[in-house]
Amino acid sequence: MSIWVLRGLRDGVVTTRWPARPDPYADGWRGPARALGPTGSVDPALCPTGAISAQGVDQGRCILCGRCVAERPDLFGWSRGATGPAAAGLSRDALIVPEPPETDETVRAARARLRERTAALRRSVHVRHVDAGSDGSEEWEIQALLGPVYDIGRLGIFFTASPRHADVLLVTGAGVRGMAGPLRTTYDGMPDPKVVIAVGTDAVSGDVAATVPVDVWLPGSPPSPFGILNALLIAVGQL
Ligand code: SF4
Repeated sequence: MSIWVLRGLRDGVVTTRWPARPDPYADGWRGPARALGPTGSVDPALCPTGAISAQGVDQGRCILCGRCVAERPDLFGWSRGATGPAAAGLSRDALIVPEPPETDETVRAARARLRERTAALRRSVHVRHVDAGSDGSEEWEIQALLGPVYDIGRLGIFFTASPRHADVLLVTGAGVRGMAGPLRTTYDGMPDPKVVIAVGTDAVSGDVAATVPVDVWLPGSPPSPFGILNALLIAVGQL
């Protein structure tokens, strides 16, 4: 009997039931830093990427270096989980915590608009991924979605190599100049309705939005597979 069969018998079903059921691993994943109190007195130079301001922490710029948490544990901590404070946002400003300038009403309206646009995508969604200058870390997490633990096929989400078949454009990397043309060509080649997700701190704080209109913003360096799943489900109105 092969080792894989024995391992299968030993481990049983490993596929997560998230989001239908809670998953402790999804809830425990460490996300970008967040402010635990007012940050007005903090020297912005504390953060190497300029993510800290009087408004709070811009998670779209946080690379999880840990400097703020180590030096000011009274004021900064980590976000946890694939939903909540480490989750994808429907606008760039929504990633600034703890004081996003949007009201609940604005978020509700943005969700409703997206849901309306993507109503046709609920049952089966095809995703095209474009690496626009990534360091490769987001790609590892995206690959994990295809494995037995996350198995995104169970949610009706599949990757495609052709923009013509794609409903969702998943963009990683900072949006380097050399990839602007291919990224735009991919976007233009996708049929309507289409949704764009910027995945990871590089994509969120880089130049991706100058090339294609971003609908969902996912912070993290890299974001967890649960975080990417969360962004995909938000994008197609399933969450
Ligand atoms: S963890 Fe590092 S990058 Fe993130 S906010 Fe803190 S200092 Fe800035």
